[in-house]
Parts: sequence; structure tokens; C-alpha cells
Amino acid sequence: MSKNQGEKILRGFPICAGIAIAPPHFFSVVEEDIPEVTVPKEAIESEVARYYRALKNSKKDLVALQKRLRAEGGKEAVAILHTHLEMMRDPVMTVDVEKEIRRKSKSTEYAFSTVIGEYEKRFSKITDTFFQERIKDFQDISRRIICHLRCHRPASLANVGSKSIVFAQELSPSHTAEANTECIEAFVTRSGSDTSHVAIMARAKGIPFISKVEFSAEDLEGVECVIVDGRTGDVIFNPQQQTLDHYKKERKKLRVATHGLRRKGEFEAQTIDGYKVRLSSNLESFQEIDLLHQYGGEGVGLFRSEYLFLARDAFPSEEEQFAVYKALVEKVHGYPVVIRTFDIGGDKLGNFYPSRYEKNPYLGCRAIRLMLKESTAFKAQIRAILRASAFGEVGILFPMISGIEELRAVKAVVLEAQKELTKQAEPFNPNMPVGCMIEIPSAVMTADILVRECDFLSIGTNDLVQYALAVDRGNPEMSYLYNPAHPCMLRMIKMVVQEGMRAKKPVSLCGEIAADPHFTALLIGLGVQELSLASPALPIIKNVIRHLSIVGATELADYALSLTTSEDVAALLKKNYEQLCKHLA
Ligand code: PEP
Ligand code: MG
Repeated sequence: MSKNQGEKILRGFPICAGIAIAPPHFFSVVEEDIPEVTVPKEAIESEVARYYRALKNSKKDLVALQKRLRAEGGKEAVAILHTHLEMMRDPVMTVDVEKEIRRKSKSTEYAFSTVIGEYEKRFSKITDTFFQERIKDFQDISRRIICHLRCHRPASLANVGSKSIVFAQELSPSHTAEANTECIEAFVTRSGSDTSHVAIMARAKGIPFISKVEFSAEDLEGVECVIVDGRTGDVIFNPQQQTLDHYKKERKKLRVATHGLRRKGEFEAQTIDGYKVRLSSNLESFQEIDLLHQYGGEGVGLFRSEYLFLARDAFPSEEEQFAVYKALVEKVHGYPVVIRTFDIGGDKLGNFYPSRYEKNPYLGCRAIRLMLKESTAFKAQIRAILRASAFGEVGILFPMISGIEELRAVKAVVLEAQKELTKQAEPFNPNMPVGCMIEIPSAVMTADILVRECDFLSIGTNDLVQYALAVDRGNPEMSYLYNPAHPCMLRMIKMVVQEGMRAKKPVSLCGEIAADPHFTALLIGLGVQELSLASPALPIIKNVIRHLSIVGATELADYALSLTTSEDVAALLKKNYEQLCKHLA
């Protein structure tokens, strides 16, 4: 008889809201032990041939998967798989493995895992997140090749065939990219951070996700049903009938609310006392526009344009970009679209600058710092955005502005591009709004200066937390310090909002907390008037707004501002949200 009987609750960190009820599916990517096997001399050639065959089949897998994902519009996933393909094509790796087989007369599996192990050891000495990510890539491709050597099918979330809640130690972006959304009801992982690309992708797919849950594979033995509450972070194993009935009702309420709120125009994102909040979508690809319409986004608050080419080896041309931006504006139809210029660098190097290693990439040549050096490509992007502004309401947003000099420098390029277009008689909106991302503490402290010389501000809390608290947003070991509920964040958001109000210029917030219902009342109470978030989270946030009063939200924000620790702020937000959940229709 199974030892796992009776209801058991574990609590984790909620990443993507929503309720799921389904049997668990343990997704294991744990390596099998590879025994050391010595092969006779006459078998060496066939071992080498076996290696090349596995390599070829692994590449075939990736190309096929890329093709599928490209058709589905998963640009981010396509970019990741491109990196894996490039690594498999690297002759150094191929030669090392062949040498190891020949020199030491070892089986292909053993020789291959020894070479990969060496790479991992070398890279793990470098604490930089870029190299830590490369280790994960090595592990990913190594798993694939070993599976082919052993004639197994690689573990894939595309193969989950019936409704389930996926439990995993950690998910890689490629696993998330492959995830079969028809069957996967939720993700529960032991580790993973809120702003990782896995989290961003899960939100884009609308899959409830809880991380940092301390479960073991044994916890799942004999468990037939699990409830995941992505709003609170609760994971309930073997729920009692009463609990199950309660959550089924909650899920139904949420579905009804989501469905109701999906019907665009039917409800406004307005508090019970009539305060209107603008809710727009963060988009990473053109294909996501359908989600915007489906979930009732009021425009695009952030188009992360860099995803257009992370899988490429060169910047897209002006014409190519113009075609995408114009189609975007036309498809969003009547709503504003804010296009952010390329934010590459940091963890988003893609294949673009494979040789551009920096010791501190997040503090290095990223976003506009890089684009101001790449002046031809920068101008081409700005020209393409300006040209698209002739077809609808378009704003341009500059990432990583650290002070007024940079804002002036990028505006000078806008002016030059405008002059060129005028000469060429190309139509554009001469008053296209220019926005400044506030994601560096120096920009917060000089928001009064910046706001005078631009048309709107957009607070990027994902980076602001990392730069204000000096915590790498992608480093899971540091995630305990990465806390958007830190009192400094509340003060900074308030400062920026006040400067916007004083200058009568709009301030939006487009970091991941915009999609976290725990933060909604606080942000509105702090005076944020526009939230931009992944489309699938729009109905949930809209529903929360419709149950708030601006008076209550302001009181909550004032009280939160008086608290001294992140823990107290987080506890307040949690309590407030749980209270609100009782009344959510
Ligand atoms: C942010 O930093 O909050 C943001 C929205 O931008 P990104 O996550 O693309 O850096
Ligand atoms: Mg950012």
C-alpha cells in the first residue's frame, strides 16, 4: 500500500496564477549512471560511427522541433535550439569525443560523458550566469545524444499525453518550449526564478506555475490527484473531498471570470469606485497578438523586439522590421503599440554576439549601450519604427537608460532618422511618443529630469530589482534576495509615479510583478495607471482590479510604505490578496 495517503500541503513560490487539478506527472531528466566500459580495439571504429550517428539523429530532432516551434511562433524557443545546434556542430566537441574513444578504448557513452563532464567542470569555475547557462545547454544536448546512443526517446514535455501536473527538479527553456499545452495543467518545480525565461514562457502559455516546492519523487508515489493554486503557491496532494470540492468551485469561478473578462469590451479594468487602469500586453512575438485580442489587452505596452532575431546571426534589415512593425500595428488595430528597441546583452546574447564575453554582462554593453555603438543597425530599427508610426498609434521605448545624456543621444538618432525620412518623402508620425524605461536606480533618482525630455515612462521592475538590490535576476542561488516586495522598490515606484504625475506624463509598469495579483492593489495604490503584462494573466488582474477600491488600495500602499522589511511587505500583500480572493467573482 502506498505511504502517500491523506491530504498533504506543500507551499512554494507562485510564478503564474491559476488553479489546476490533475494527477501528477514526474518529469525526470536525471542522468542515468554511465558505466566505464572498455571496448576491444576492433570495436573502436563502430563506436566512433555510433557517436556520429547519435549526433546526426540529435541534430535531426532539433531541426524538426525548431520547424514546429517556428510555425507556432515560439521565437524564444527557436533561438535556444539554434544555440544547441551550433554547439553540436562545434568541431572541437566532436574531435574531443572521437579522440577519447580512440585513445582510451572506451565506449562511446563513457567517452562522451567524460568530455561533457570536463566542459562542465571548466565552466562551473566561472560564476558568470552566461557560463552557468552554457552548462545547462551542455546538459541539455548531452541528454539528447545519450538518449540516441541508448536508442531511447529523449524526455520531452511534448509527449505528456493526458491531463497532468508536471513536477520537475527544474525546467529548462527548451522543455518549456516543447510543453504540450493541451495536457499540461501546471508546473511545479523545486527551483526556478520568477523572472527566468522559463517563467516568462510559462506565463505566455498561461500555464499555472509554482517553484521552490520542496517535494521528492517519493512524495508523488501513489498520489492520484494534486491541486495547484498558482495564486497562493499551495500544492495539495491527495486532497480530501471537501478540499477538492472547494477548489473545483474556485476553478470554475476563475474560469467563468476569465471567460467573462475575455469578452473584450464587456468589462473595464476599473475599480469599484470608478478608477480606470489601463491593461496592455507584453509581447515577444508577432504571433502573440491573437492572445492580446483573446484576453482583451488594450494595446501593446511592451514589444520586446529583440526576440525578432535572437535566433539569427545578424540584425534584421529595416525593410524586414518595418513589415513586422506595420503588421503589428495593423493587427492590434486602434490600440497603441509600444515598441522597445533591441535589448540585447545580459543573458540575451543569442547567437548574435557569441564571442562577446563580458565578466559582468548585466553591467556591461547591453541594450542602448550596445545599440549606440551599432549605429547603423540602431538607425535602421528607429527608421522602421517611425515608418510604422504612419499606420497607427506607435510609441518607441528605450531600455536601460541610466541618465539624461543617454536619452539625448538616442533622441538625436530619432531626429536624424526623421530628417532622412522627410527627405525621402517616407510618411511617419513626427510626434511619435518617445519613452524611457526606468529600470536602473539612477534613472529612478533622475526621473524628474528624464520625464521632462520624453513623453512617457515605463518601469521595468525585473531589472530594477536586480540593479537596486545587486542581485542577478537569473541566479537561482540568489533568488532569496531578489525580492520585488523590498521596501526600496515601493519607494522607487512611488517616486517615479509622482514625477510622472507632476509632469503630466503617463507612467506604466511592465515588469513581471504587473502579472502577479498579489501586487495589483499595491501598484494601483502607489499610483500606477497602466500595467503591461503577459496576455493570459490579463483576466486575473482585471478581475482583481474590479474588486478593489482606489481608496483601499491607497491605504494599503501607504501602510506598505511604512513597513521596514521585504518579509513584512510580502506578508501584507499575501494577506490582502487572500482576503480579496474570498470575494472574487
Ligand atoms: C524589466 O526589466 O522589467 C522588463 C520589462 O524588461 P526585460 O524583462 O525584457 O528586461
Ligand atoms: Mg529590463
